[in-house]
Amino acid sequence: MTNNYKTLDGRVVAGAMYEDISRRATELVARGFGPNLVSISVGESEASRLYVRNQKRTAQKLGIGFDEREFSGDISIGELTGIIGELNADPRVTGIIIQRPVPDHLPVRTLQAKIHPLKDVEGMHPSSIGNIVYNELVMGPCTAVASVELLKKTGLELKGLEVVIIGHSEIVGKPIAFLLMSEGATVTVCHHMTRNLRVHSRSADAVFVAVGKPGLVTGDMIKPGAALIDIGINQITDEDGNSKVVGDADFDSCLETAGWITPVPGGVGPVTVAVLMRNSVIAAGLINQ
Ligand code: NAD
Repeated sequence: MTNNYKTLDGRVVAGAMYEDISRRATELVARGFGPNLVSISVGESEASRLYVRNQKRTAQKLGIGFDEREFSGDISIGELTGIIGELNADPRVTGIIIQRPVPDHLPVRTLQAKIHPLKDVEGMHPSSIGNIVYNELVMGPCTAVASVELLKKTGLELKGLEVVIIGHSEIVGKPIAFLLMSEGATVTVCHHMTRNLRVHSRSADAVFVAVGKPGLVTGDMIKPGAALIDIGINQITDEDGNSKVVGDADFDSCLETAGWITPVPGGVGPVTVAVLMRNSVIAAGLINQ
């Protein structure tokens, strides 16, 4: 049974962020410098198509331009970096998004590094990632920023907070660690080579999980009253044969133990889109300064 008191509702958090984003977008449009995003999708991906539809709908509601460009799965890296170069040079384009996944022959980090840092609304350019280390956050990586934003909603004092992050990817786990260190938290990062995960997770005041394994974190791995931010997105088939999306936590058992928990869907996901939109108005403002 879901206890709403404990659930950190990402849709509510995102909704509150949209008021400010919409006001900033309207101001930019009125000055003739409206934010305009270009989304690049390569090849066929059902998951990516869903993200794009969601981003486009949200952008349009906020008055942010959204141009969807789809390319064939066999496009070469040279052709695609050429297109990114043209978008960098186009003054009407204020933000560029590369939708994941991209086919294996296109290294996503190479593509990300080709985007002009001021148009890097996903916060994935090496200079954006580097800024996190220096605690000079302009446009941070959306999922990591969204996850930290949700932890802040618990009202827990971040200074000295014991935090465990499970998963150390460049786009999620590592940036979360740097963002939290900047806030004064004591951070432990666990990954697939960590020897005894539950020893770490049970000692934490807050646990972030970004692995991609449904049911990895169970209620007995969490300290009673701790915050659990579940970033995982996994498509599974339930016992009735229906397909559904779940996170990395076993939600029901974690809900029993945790003080706060983010649902999947409806937790980190909506806030990630809101951070992308916030980055988009920041980028448009910076480009047109
Ligand atoms: P990744 O595949 O790049 O990295 C997975 C991480 O999990 C690695 O650090 C690995 O060491 C660790 N890991 C694997 N098995 C483990 C185990 N048994 N115990 C502990 N650690 C283990 O993943 P990613 O790109 O960071 O994505 C992780 C999850 O987050 C996926 O489900 C992905 O779909 C989701 N995700 C969600 C959002 C969002 O907006 N909510 C955005 C990006 C990714």
